[in-house]
Amino acid sequence: MIYGYDTSEKIKSDAKLNVLKYSGPYGKGAFIGRYLTNAPSGEDKCLEYDEVKFLSDNDINIVSIFETYGGPLSYFTMARGISDARASVAAATDLGQPSGKPIYFAVDIPIYVDNQNQVQAIWEYFVGVSQILSDSNENPHGYTLGVYGCEGTCLTVRAVYPNAYTMQCNPKTNGSFSDWNLDQSQYNNGNPIWYNGVAVTIDVVTAQNGNYGGWKHTHTYPSNWTPSSDGIHHHKHCTNCGFVLKKKHSFPSAWSNYGNAKKHRKACTACGAYKYEPHSPNAVGTKCTKCGYEGNIILPSATDGEDSNE
Ligand SMILES: [Zn+2]
Ligand SMILES: [Zn+2]
Ligand SMILES: [Zn+2]
Repeated sequence: MIYGYDTSEKIKSDAKLNVLKYSGPYGKGAFIGRYLTNAPSGEDKCLEYDEVKFLSDNDINIVSIFETYGGPLSYFTMARGISDARASVAAATDLGQPSGKPIYFAVDIPIYVDNQNQVQAIWEYFVGVSQILSDSNENPHGYTLGVYGCEGTCLTVRAVYPNAYTMQCNPKTNGSFSDWNLDQSQYNNGNPIWYNGVAVTIDVVTAQNGNYGGWKHTHTYPSNWTPSSDGIHHHKHCTNCGFVLKKKHSFPSAWSNYGNAKKHRKACTACGAYKYEPHSPNAVGTKCTKCGYEGNIILPSATDGEDSNE
């Protein structure tokens, strides 16, 4: 057995790590389960890039969990599975999660294997998730399917996806399930543990063996971003393994006048790629109301193609 934790707290300082090290039942632990994103309404619980590096430097594996709601049952639809999978892949990519590692999708309500309504909803949700994860365009790093939930949930998902990673959590509700990759239990009755005046609330988690999908930060990126050919992103390649870190351009709100009679532009603050748009002329067509260009404005005709770089 291998022992670790999960928490909704960010572990990215020695003070927090020392709480685990000196007050946790397993010392600092071999791994820690962390959430890939924040919930729309809730605490700031998401794993961060500097946290990934901090944990990796301290020889702690990360286990990726995706949970924004986790319930009620009506949450679990195919459309939601698709959107959750897309959001999780984007977050895992931003954090540099290595190819092939799982994302554990959370079902945080009791599911009973003999309740057909519940089983049906969970199936539909995971069909949506798996549709995205099995599509190499949507999921170029091949992140794999994991499920976080009670015994009934793990059994329900494994019945359709026998290779799914499972993280079994409390409450133990229904069915007997022993083939988990990870098993989670509450620790200290859900109260925080303390060291040196710093508190962390943890669950304890047991891994059956090394096959639980833990990962560390392994990439080395150059400082500069390169504009991607899709016009939407910029990217950089890990110099060790070629992993592509891809982010959307970040444009300022204001448009710039660059002396062009047809359009104005703005540059991505990270990679410098330009985005163009036709001027917005005032009533008499002599000045752009957005960028301040003055002169005879030439608006694109219907036969003009897409704006291109000029
Ligand atoms: Zn790499
Ligand atoms: Zn850019
Ligand atoms: Zn303009």
